[in-house]
Amino acid sequence: MSREPIVGIDLGTTNSLVAICDARGPRTISDRSGSPLVPSAVTYTQGSAVVGADARSGAPAHPRHTILSVKRLMGRSLPEVSADLPFLSYAVEPGPRGTCRVRIPGDAGNADLVLSPEEVSASILRHLKQLAESHLGTEVRKAVITVPAYFDDAQRQATRTAARLAGLEAVRLVPEPTAAALAYGLGLSAGDRTPRHVAVYDLGGGTFDISILRLTPAEGDDPFFFQVLAVGGDTRLGGDDADHLIADLFRREIQDRTGAPPAPDAARGLVTLAEQVKVRLSEHDTAPVRIDLGPSGVYERTLAREEFESLIAPLVDRTIDRCRQALAAAAAELRGKSLDAVVLVGGSTRIPLVRRRVAECFNLEPYTALDPDQVVALGASVQAAVLSGDRSGTLLLDVIPLSLGVETVGGAVAKVIMRNSPVPARATEMFSTSVDNQTAFRLAVFQGEREMASDCRKLGEFHLRGLPPMPAGIPQLELTFLVDANGVLGVSALERRSGRRASMQVIPNHGLTPEEVDRIERESVTHAREDMTRHRIVDLIANSNLDLKWIGERYDRFSHELSPADRETLAACMARLRELVARASADWKSVPPDDLHQAKEALDRASVRLQEISIAASLRGGPLRPG
Ligand code: AMP
Repeated sequence: MSREPIVGIDLGTTNSLVAICDARGPRTISDRSGSPLVPSAVTYTQGSAVVGADARSGAPAHPRHTILSVKRLMGRSLPEVSADLPFLSYAVEPGPRGTCRVRIPGDAGNADLVLSPEEVSASILRHLKQLAESHLGTEVRKAVITVPAYFDDAQRQATRTAARLAGLEAVRLVPEPTAAALAYGLGLSAGDRTPRHVAVYDLGGGTFDISILRLTPAEGDDPFFFQVLAVGGDTRLGGDDADHLIADLFRREIQDRTGAPPAPDAARGLVTLAEQVKVRLSEHDTAPVRIDLGPSGVYERTLAREEFESLIAPLVDRTIDRCRQALAAAAAELRGKSLDAVVLVGGSTRIPLVRRRVAECFNLEPYTALDPDQVVALGASVQAAVLSGDRSGTLLLDVIPLSLGVETVGGAVAKVIMRNSPVPARATEMFSTSVDNQTAFRLAVFQGEREMASDCRKLGEFHLRGLPPMPAGIPQLELTFLVDANGVLGVSALERRSGRRASMQVIPNHGLTPEEVDRIERESVTHAREDMTRHRIVDLIANSNLDLKWIGERYDRFSHELSPADRETLAACMARLRELVARASADWKSVPPDDLHQAKEALDRASVRLQEISIAASLRGGPLRPG
């Protein structure tokens, strides 16, 4: 990076992150543990400050020395934070000029430490600055830092001061919802000046925020103007409440079954267990629960997603009510225009019920392509890139630079949207199964010009589960790829017979430089002939296997009805194709595709009589399933 780097920082209540945006697009920086989430926790013991995961995990042992949630104190007076005090484990006292201070008891011969919230935040910012510096290999002096949309002047000023104490110039403070929208490229535009109206729904562990924004692309230093049209929320509503509802359910049931509340040991772990159950239910339909109650036995049950959803429905309802209020408050500004996008922020937006209810409320499929824990930091880095004049990673596309497709049986990629298609682009393809009674599909989405998945770039995968068992080839899987004007790819799968759906979102453009796109294109030309042959072989193997299975089953049942000559020809054709398939599966180069194709055609021709016999049998109500 030639220009002086500007990083993006999400200085959060619970976790903080640092991100950069270059020609590969925005990305967060992870520490040695591999996680980009730095817990916003600082432990002051024996004259030194420990920041992050170690401070958070040591908090129960050092409650009065570990400062958590310091963001709630930034720029506030003691009376203003009185509602938060019961939730803080450390001492807070009044400071000069209507500010507050935290007091950390002295230890190991050190006196008490009295610190401003800015100084504690500076410890966290310094940690993030060092993380970025060791990643980039250069000094970092400037940052774009995000703040809640409702932060007032004093709170913003306190954030700037914290940055200065950490040796960082806060070149911009950006509202968190605006950053989340920017991470998706909303509000940035190559030439189009139409304002975009965006709702940002942010549901974390302990807080909920809804913001309705207007982003107007412009020119010059600031590539857009943003206006906050409405905000709403609840500072004490979040995923933690869901954990407590589940834990309460378990507690009640344990009491009903054993006649006594759970022993303190079991009770303590209940909330942690409840959170694990909740997280599992975002991915699975059920979660098993097993608690050893000691002498009272074992508490065992399965929590189904439906049960969890009815448990948390009132919580989700409360957030939706706030969304409706915010929409009503913004109505005059929106003047009947509908929203262009809904962006999800915060770990709790991974809950499927939350996604469904938000989609219903706003009548829009929300953006989920970016990690909801990282989206604010990513957006801050996009703003940083814009300010530093390096917009290569934030440019919006007018065409899709690399083809997009899905992996098929045998490892080939079926392209669904072709390279150079104009954005927005949409395409639908039909697929089916290759084995009987398949109740789930794995859908792996790839980008690139080569024919085999192993030579393309994997963008992600998802599963369509819960299909009723059907013979191979009967399910009708409709796969839709949609790249919208912001370059977000949505892939959705619908099995038409059962109505089951699943979907995922990604931003294909992130993580690749324009040079890499060029290289991928060149390689596809070099390998074109070989790739085509391999793709053809792989497809021929898959289709031959289906034929061999179908014809083989019928041969076993009805071959006695064939003439001896027909039977012999058919058996020879099956043996020949089986042999070629086995050889091609072991080494695709060992069989010319034309040979395989001819052997398959020969089998198809030789099986005509068998097919007639089998159809006649099924019309007579024979035992074979339709197929
Ligand atoms: P945040 O404050 O944004 O870090 O969000 C933290 C909250 O998200 C906690 O309540 C977590 O339990 C919750 N969370 C994280 N991952 C998931 C998930 N996969 N499903 C449901 N909730 C989650």
